[in-house]
Amino acid sequence: MTRPRVEALVDHDALAHNVGLLAGLARASGAATMAVVKADGYGHGAVEAGRTALASGATWLGVCTLEEAAQLRGAGITAPVLSWLHLPDEDFAPAVADAVDLGVSSRAELDGVVAGAGRAGRPARIHLKIDTGLSRNGCPPEAWGELLDAVEAARAAGDVEVAAVWSHLAHADAPDHPTIDVQAKRFDDAWRAAGERLGGPRPWRHLANSAATLTRPDLHLDLVRPGIAVYGLDPLEAPDHHGLRPVMTFRTRVALVKRVAAGEGVSYGHEWVAPDDRVLALVPTGYADGVPRRLGGTMTVQLAGRRRPVVGRVCMDQVVVDLGPADDAPTTVAPGDEVLLFGPGDAGEPTALEWARWLDTIHYEVVTGVGCRPRVTRT
Ligand code: PLP
Repeated sequence: MTRPRVEALVDHDALAHNVGLLAGLARASGAATMAVVKADGYGHGAVEAGRTALASGATWLGVCTLEEAAQLRGAGITAPVLSWLHLPDEDFAPAVADAVDLGVSSRAELDGVVAGAGRAGRPARIHLKIDTGLSRNGCPPEAWGELLDAVEAARAAGDVEVAAVWSHLAHADAPDHPTIDVQAKRFDDAWRAAGERLGGPRPWRHLANSAATLTRPDLHLDLVRPGIAVYGLDPLEAPDHHGLRPVMTFRTRVALVKRVAAGEGVSYGHEWVAPDDRVLALVPTGYADGVPRRLGGTMTVQLAGRRRPVVGRVCMDQVVVDLGPADDAPTTVAPGDEVLLFGPGDAGEPTALEWARWLDTIHYEVVTGVGCRPRVTRT
């Protein structure tokens, strides 16, 4: 089969290794592991990543939206799935019918979930989210008592089962940051209050993302929720990457090799002008594929055994790579040759972390940007 023009190669052995490592840490604390596969598995394919994670030690999957949860169920994944970011007026009935656990942050969201449970004809399993200091979703502590009252009424009426109380950390990538303990204390208070106010079994607690899974066993509680580390990227950027193996290789192939004369401008705006007679490789991958336009003039790629610069502007579908002066450029580069945009770095290629530094961002955005989420509905 012809190799695709551009592809994100997903190393499922590496993903299995990472989940095994994370689940081993969690298990040592008596915690279960939820692999977070939102945003199409951080660009790696939610269903495929989810299946590998479940075969490698994770027992839960976590997603952001109801659509993402439905995608997993539609693919036949029956493991517990938690979805956590909703508009209160969404139709929760299909998710309840599909046994998807639902994060609940507010009274309005609870009302929507209860209505969905009524239509589905079964109780919804909910995870009550307390905002302990991130100030995103989650119930503010001052409204927690009121939310618990409403939840208890819904629970007593058979509309919901409370599976867990949970929260999310603001500074987990700085393991000694003082806000972590502040958040952990607020979390514990909220969980205790829930235990006192709600009938039924004691809810689970979960708080730890990748960074806390790797560095704060005291916060593993009942369940950890690693995302980025599943994909082999270390949120703490430790020299040994905490033993994680990057999962994605973003690669493409040379479309054309050509010479340009000294003084010729290259790509839109002629921001790069050949200083002498040059050999160039045309690489058919651009910003529509996930190579940000602002990497023009900054990025390098691995081609024919070494790093080579992308010269001139990144276009929608293509970039130009400088192979060197015509006198001594390698004649070995030919159309069809592999071009590594980023990967684990084993072959000398840039890593997602290197891209993140070029872009002044985090590697989360790099791999998710390659994923091309089909998430913005076209109407
Ligand atoms: N839990 C929640 C609520 C999240 O939003 C995320 C991701 O942003 C995660 C867990 C996983 O975080 P990370 O990718 O840093 O492990």
